[in-house]
Amino acid sequence: MSQLRAHFRAIDNASATHDLEEVVYDHEGSLLEVFHPLAPLRERSAQDWKDLFGQRAGSMDLVERSGVWGKLEWVLPQIPREHVVTLGEGWNPLLPAPRTAARLGLSDVRLKLCGTTHTGSFKDLGMTVLVSWVNHLVCTGAKIRAVACASTGDTSAALAAYAAAAGLPAIVFLPADKVSLAQLIQPVANGAHVLALDTDFDGCMKVVQELTQDKSIYLANSKNSLRIEGQKTVSIETVQQLGWTAPDWFVIPGGNLGNVSALAKGLDLMYDLGLLSGKRPRIAVAQAAAADPLVKSFEKGLAPLEAQTARTTLASAIRIGNPVSFPKAIDALKRYEGVAESVSEDALSDAAARGDLEGFYHCPHTGVALGALEQLVAKGTIRSGESVVVISTAHGLKFSEFKTGYHEGKLAGVESRLANRVARIAPTYAAVQDELKRRLG
Ligand SMILES: *Cc1c(COP(=O)(O)O)cnc(C)c1O
Repeated sequence: MSQLRAHFRAIDNASATHDLEEVVYDHEGSLLEVFHPLAPLRERSAQDWKDLFGQRAGSMDLVERSGVWGKLEWVLPQIPREHVVTLGEGWNPLLPAPRTAARLGLSDVRLKLCGTTHTGSFKDLGMTVLVSWVNHLVCTGAKIRAVACASTGDTSAALAAYAAAAGLPAIVFLPADKVSLAQLIQPVANGAHVLALDTDFDGCMKVVQELTQDKSIYLANSKNSLRIEGQKTVSIETVQQLGWTAPDWFVIPGGNLGNVSALAKGLDLMYDLGLLSGKRPRIAVAQAAAADPLVKSFEKGLAPLEAQTARTTLASAIRIGNPVSFPKAIDALKRYEGVAESVSEDALSDAAARGDLEGFYHCPHTGVALGALEQLVAKGTIRSGESVVVISTAHGLKFSEFKTGYHEGKLAGVESRLANRVARIAPTYAAVQDELKRRLG
């Protein structure tokens, strides 16, 4: 097989390229993507790729077993294996939700549980790639003092964990008082430099972009397209779990919009290399109504971005009014006949709670996706009998304030229709019997 090598290229100018060794995040204002020349990848047949990826899934080797690094040739082919920093990311369960499917009249609904991972969100998928590459650059003599990101909580948790594993200093900027307690304490525990700024995510993003003009501080936000390479395995892995078939729809929550572009990029590669063929799945991006610039654009026929000041939402990780990856998301919606749907605080909360009654433990962002799914079915956009994969982006355990607030009926603007109150009763058999009689009949 020929030497596989990926490089950066501008998304709107294929001849503007940079080596991955360069510390560069855009090309004259245009976003970059990591481009994989297809000819050498095509030297292996689609069946051989499927067989190879299938074998590696059963390996006991930590790098081969990783959902990301088991697909190393498609992700970051030139990295030496010994420079990979893995925390066992990927291979997230794809669980059926048969009661949801039946209730909505769909043939199949599955949840891709990206939150069952080291730091509890899909951000691990991208961060393993970015930190591994920085580790490789440092190991080969690059002068990089630290990796830095702005975050709505999960990016900083992932960066701090992978940087700590690699022994690299991490700097994280968080909007003060706008992330959950679990999200705040993760980077603290991992020894990152945690800087809380009195602003929102978009304000933090501005500061980190200025800071990383200094090339010895490496930008770890998803504007850095290396992260997208890891995150794109989410669609590849899902399709693999479905026996190399695609569902009719993917529903995914979107904030900065890196993840939806990653989902589409993974699909692109499977079509380009013949692992998928025929009808393409459609993509629905779900946003909180409090922060829905993509929905606004979609409603105007994919009009240019009008940045918003994002309002407070329980889905704090997608509270973003000026999404960096907007142009990539628009391209993704065009290629996959996409739609965008916004969901209220009330609807996202009930949708998450309804999912939990089927055995899940959904974060509010997954609630946004499930709320969008219900609304799109009601509108007839997603039609009866279709199959849907919902990307669940984080573990509910990171959002205990959301869960307790819902069930205690304390969330502003949320009716908590499915609240399950804890019964506080006298410690006697008679009192328990009374209570259970009332509940079970
Ligand atoms: C980051 C994040 C998102 C949004 O992903 P984008 O790439 O910013 O669109 C959604 N849900 C959770 C839990 C996240 O951490």
